[in-house]
Amino acid sequence: MEFATFANRAATIEAESADLEIVAHVRDLLTEAGDDLPIVARFVQGRVFPAWDSTTLDIGPNTCYEAIARAAGTNVGADDVEERLAESGEIGAVAASYDFGGQQGLGAFVGGGGSGAGGADDDNDDNGGNGTDDLTVRKVHDTLTDLAAAEGSGSQDRKVDLLFGLFNRCSSDEARYLARLVLSEMRIGVGEGTVRDAIAEAFDVPQEPVERALQVSNDYGQVAETARNDGVSGLDEIELKIGRPVQAMLAQAGTVTDALEEWDAAAVEWKYDGARIQLHHDPTNPGNPDGDSNGETHVFSRNMEAVTNALPEVVEFADQHLDCPAILDGEVVAIDDDGSPLPFQEVLKRFRRKHDVAKAREDVTVRPVFFDCLHADGDDLLEEPLTARHDQLQSVLAAEPQQEPEEIDGFSLLWVTDDPDEIEAIDADALETGHEGIMLKNPDSTYSPGRRGKNWQKRKPDVETLDCVVTGAEWGEGRRATFLGTFELSVRDGDDLEAVGKVATGITDEKLEELTELLEPHIVAEDGTAVELEPAVVFEVGYEEIQTSPTYSSGYALRFPRFLGVRYDKDTEGAETLERLETLFES
Ligand code: AMP
Repeated sequence: MEFATFANRAATIEAESADLEIVAHVRDLLTEAGDDLPIVARFVQGRVFPAWDSTTLDIGPNTCYEAIARAAGTNVGADDVEERLAESGEIGAVAASYDFGGQQGLGAFVGGGGSGAGGADDDNDDNGGNGTDDLTVRKVHDTLTDLAAAEGSGSQDRKVDLLFGLFNRCSSDEARYLARLVLSEMRIGVGEGTVRDAIAEAFDVPQEPVERALQVSNDYGQVAETARNDGVSGLDEIELKIGRPVQAMLAQAGTVTDALEEWDAAAVEWKYDGARIQLHHDPTNPGNPDGDSNGETHVFSRNMEAVTNALPEVVEFADQHLDCPAILDGEVVAIDDDGSPLPFQEVLKRFRRKHDVAKAREDVTVRPVFFDCLHADGDDLLEEPLTARHDQLQSVLAAEPQQEPEEIDGFSLLWVTDDPDEIEAIDADALETGHEGIMLKNPDSTYSPGRRGKNWQKRKPDVETLDCVVTGAEWGEGRRATFLGTFELSVRDGDDLEAVGKVATGITDEKLEELTELLEPHIVAEDGTAVELEPAVVFEVGYEEIQTSPTYSSGYALRFPRFLGVRYDKDTEGAETLERLETLFES
């Protein structure tokens, strides 16, 4: 396809505002693309490479301005381009405002034998300028691929040369969309959904298999071509591939209340405070990109960027623990000498590091923790329920079949429960161990790449905390018989105290012992295991929401109260009032 045809269509799409019309234009563009279909399916979204491919053009705006200036003529400098950009605010409009063509010199003749800085020539009679020669989308693609591959000394000059050669052959519309493509600023209103719908319409296949194939491959070019050449059966055959990342499933904020209302039970996991990773490992394939693994290993970031070389610990982990091809989803966490998690900022010192990795590794140690499994030993698992994927994760990571889950290295435990107290206890353990809190997941949900849905929820941090007076407690049972627990919380109402709930979970034995020592002297009455306390101690508690309730004398109840600490600095006079509780309830 001629690049001019692509540019004309892009201009038409840009001028269109109706979504259906845009889909129809993209459909026509794909239908007309012929052999260049994969390229056109990417270009129209402003991409040169497939979404999974972390290759970048590595072109700064200045490189692009320089190439435009050079193609625009001897009197034009990059500063002129910048001035026009300051006026119009858009690089496409600036590129379109010049009259290109006929400039000679290095790289001018990209269409012919000139290949790179050394391949310059003055014989650009192929180049009539102003788009009169046939610049094709393939030529643009191939030149940009060469440009992306340029590295080392002189590579910036080579990039400018190659880009100049392209602009020099552009008409005004072609230049507009070339400049935008190169700077990732296509912005003609074509999103991923548009291309998905256009592929389905163009090649008469249902949207659903197109969508699935896109999720699995992250390659609009491949999916468009397969839909055209092999229809639904071809699309259905597209599978996950080791080395080709999948978009990460995302979480939204949620509460225990909502999770338990929505699902019969919630799958609960610790939320690790690190950076998302996707590990691809194939021990049967020795072709490893960095050469120091026993198999093929790739590590990708949440944005599908390759971060393998920055994280040798993860590569080593894969070598040691995985003996079948697998794709695992997880988090890489920085740890101290005892293996306890360190704050997120520490991981960042390692995450995208390109140089001095060995030195950085001496300063900050990281370890992976995996919570999902997308592929195991030849089987794609995206459509499997969470619990089944987690079982697979356990079996790929276990050193031996009977290994206790707690003993498995790099494995995130998962509890399925409908008991809010158990969830509180898991949350307390997570915080106690130094993690961020908990994730609540729908146990039956499939893996939806790139989606931020209700099936994964990170528990919302408390919006507010309350300082409540402890007015009662209960002696525990069994191991905890000598500790006070289940503390009654109250707020002030004038001179009176009115109860708002009880906090029982989320407190370690060590803490219970400390609280018992603190509260025992204030016991004023006992009835069985229940004790009444004189108001003396104030607890800071978190909660999910305030409800009206006939159970407590205040008329309100805190949902999922959590013990956060003792307010040693506050006496009971400083505790919350019923009035404030009412205000919080109203809001
Ligand atoms: P946020 O970044 O705050 O939206 O929280 C979601 C992120 O938490 C995910 O993208 C992961 O990087 C991270 N995370 C930590 N632990 C888990 C877990 N057990 N399950 C899913 N995501 C987790």
